[in-house]
Amino acid sequence: MEYKARELFERYDIPVPRGAVADSAAAAFQACGDLAYPLVVKAQVQVGGRGKAGGVRFAQDAQELQQHAESILGMDIKGHIVKKLLIVEKVDIAKELYLSMMLDRLTKCPIIIFSAQGGMDIEQVARETPDQVLKLAVDPLMGINAFQARYLVDKSGLDSALVQPLLAVLRKLYKMFLSCDCMLAEINPLVIDGAGNLIAADGKVSVDDSALYRQPDILAFRDELTEDARVKEARSFNFLYVPCEPDGKVAVMSNGSGMIMSCMDLIAKEGVKTGVAFDLGGGATAERIAEAIRIVLQNPAIKLLFITIFGGITRCDEVAGGVKRALETAAGDTRVIIRFEGTNKDKGLQILSTIEPGRV
Ligand code: GDP
Ligand code: MN
Repeated sequence: MEYKARELFERYDIPVPRGAVADSAAAAFQACGDLAYPLVVKAQVQVGGRGKAGGVRFAQDAQELQQHAESILGMDIKGHIVKKLLIVEKVDIAKELYLSMMLDRLTKCPIIIFSAQGGMDIEQVARETPDQVLKLAVDPLMGINAFQARYLVDKSGLDSALVQPLLAVLRKLYKMFLSCDCMLAEINPLVIDGAGNLIAADGKVSVDDSALYRQPDILAFRDELTEDARVKEARSFNFLYVPCEPDGKVAVMSNGSGMIMSCMDLIAKEGVKTGVAFDLGGGATAERIAEAIRIVLQNPAIKLLFITIFGGITRCDEVAGGVKRALETAAGDTRVIIRFEGTNKDKGLQILSTIEPGRV
C-alpha cells in the first residue's frame, strides 16, 4: 500500500508530501485539518494504475475533498475495493521521474532502474523506448557513489543541478532497500517540483517474505491487510493458503508450489476452477496434514479436495495418516482425491484402505 511505502520513505528521510490516511469522508475531512489545499485524494489499493482508473483526484477545497472521498471509497480498481484513502498536499510538478531498486538475478546485485519518463507505466516506456530506461548495478561493497547519480542525470539529458539531490535520494533509498530486505523499492513518480527538489509522490515496496521474521512491523502490516481468517490460520502453521477463483469448488493441496500450479493448469484445462491453492511445504507430518485439511474444509465453497504429494522428505504414510485423522473428525460432504508417489507409498495406501469407503 502506498501509505505504508510512504511511511518507510519518511523513516529513511526521503521527502514525501505531507498527508494523512482516512477510511471515511468524515475522517478525511478531520484528518486534513492542518493540510494546505489543493490536496490529492488517493485510493489505497495494492495495484498500480490508480490514476488512470480515476482513483487519484485533486481537491481545491473541503467540498471537493468530501466529494472525491465519497466517490473513491468503495470503488473497484482492477478487482480491489477501495477501503482507505491517502490524502496529500498536491505537489507542484515540473517533471516526473521513475526510480527503483530491485534485486537483479543476472548481475546478482541490487540494481537501480531510472527513467526521465516517470509517472506512467514503466513497462510501457521500456517496451516502446527502451533507451529511456537506465539500469545500473550497485556493487554491494561500494554502495552508492556520486558517479552513479552523475551517469543517470547525464545519460537522460537532465539538468546537472539534479545530481546532488538525486544522489541523496539514491543513498537513502539504498539504505532502506537493504535495511527492509526489499525485493523492490519503487518511487513513481519521483517528482521534481518547482523549486528543483525531489519528492516521492507515489511508492511501491515489496519485501522478501523469507526475511519477514526480522521485519516485525512489516510482518504485522501484512497480517493487518489479510482479511481471510483461513489465510491467517494457515500462516500460523507455516502453510500457504491462497484464495483463487471465488466460484472455484476445488482445493489443490500439495507439498510444493510448482506441483500446485501444474495441477491447477491441468484442472483448468478440463474447464474446472480452483478455489484454493494450499502449499504444505516440506516434511509434513500426519498431525500437520490433519490441520491443513481442517483449515481448507472450513471453506464452505470447497466441494472437492485434491491432494497430490511427492513423497521425498514428506512420507506418504504420514500423509495418509493425516487424511484419515482429518476425515474422522470432519463433518460435511467434501470428497477427497489423493495421489502420492515416493517414500512409504505402500504403507500409505494401506492406511487409506482403512478409511470409510467413498470418502477418499
Ligand atoms: P498510480 O496511477 O497508481 O501510479 O498513482 P500515482 O500516485 O502515481 O498518481 C498518478 C499520477 O497522478 C501521477 O503520475 C501524477 O501525474 C498525478 N499526481 C499524483 N500526485 C500528484 C501531485 O501531488 N501533484 C500533481 N500535480 N500531480 C500528481
Ligand atoms: Mn505511480
